Amino acid sequence: MTEARRPASLLDLDDLSPAELLDLLARADDFTDNAQARELLRGVPVLNLFFEASTRTYTSFVLAQQRVGADIVTLPPGASSLGKGETIADTALTLAAMNIRVIVTRHPASGFPYRLAEAFAGHVINAGDGRHAHPTQALLDLMTLRREFGQIAGLRVAVVGDILHSRVARSNILGLRMLGAQVTLVGPPTLLPESMAVSGVRIVRSLEAVLPEVDALMLLRIQRERITSAVLPALADYARNYRIDARRLALLPAHAIVMHPGPYNRGVELTDDVFSSKSWRYAQQVAYGVAARMAVLDHLVNGKGQRA
Ligand code: ASP
Repeated sequence: MTEARRPASLLDLDDLSPAELLDLLARADDFTDNAQARELLRGVPVLNLFFEASTRTYTSFVLAQQRVGADIVTLPPGASSLGKGETIADTALTLAAMNIRVIVTRHPASGFPYRLAEAFAGHVINAGDGRHAHPTQALLDLMTLRREFGQIAGLRVAVVGDILHSRVARSNILGLRMLGAQVTLVGPPTLLPESMAVSGVRIVRSLEAVLPEVDALMLLRIQRERITSAVLPALADYARNYRIDARRLALLPAHAIVMHPGPYNRGVELTDDVFSSKSWRYAQQVAYGVAARMAVLDHLVNGKGQRA
């Protein structure tokens, strides 16, 4: 992918070159430190088309759209005519005829935003598709790491838990590898098959072995809605092996941080000890989500701008 290419859509982080990814992170930093951006998408019609529950992603997209001055339309889940048999292509044509320029979409089916982007004349932003990708979550996670440590290259990051069903993990693995982090995946075989060990990523089953040597830990929820009960691990076993509690927190280096995309399930992947730990960065991640999404909107609609 060439650096000069202007992506029409953000479906996953591999739509970006490493340079574009770094540019987006720098732009997001600017928006965090200076919220004056109301002219950037002044009057640009943006549609939120969510088919799955969302608290953080939806709210921060709307806040981001407000901060860049967009005209915002939100279709409630179930309200689109896709449910009446209209095809994705015809829906896309209809929306383009109304001059919608950007669609932010979340869907339980992996690949939905790709189908939409093929048919839609404007920009599509993937706000989470099935178990496939969640690029803006990965962006805000990368932003958290970069602001904490200065750079991502060389960072040792462990992603822990239900990696198989996690779109957050997939997009983060892409972004972390693009920027040169050392990625370790930790979990039981049912939630982390050996086949997930792509190049540059190692799999470790023992959390205790990994904790002393990480800079950042990314915890994940067990995505029950995407798991057939036959392979759902017994929660007691899972917690015994992978839950972060006071004892495991104490094994981390003093500078290490603990992240979670939310929603977290108390008592499963973490205990309440984590919330009072100085390593816990969840609230910061959520806060960065607004600036990260402003940066994506600006990048897609306005191109490279002053950072070219
Ligand atoms: N909120 C994230 C997502 O939409 C993580 C999760 O649901 O566990 O994928």
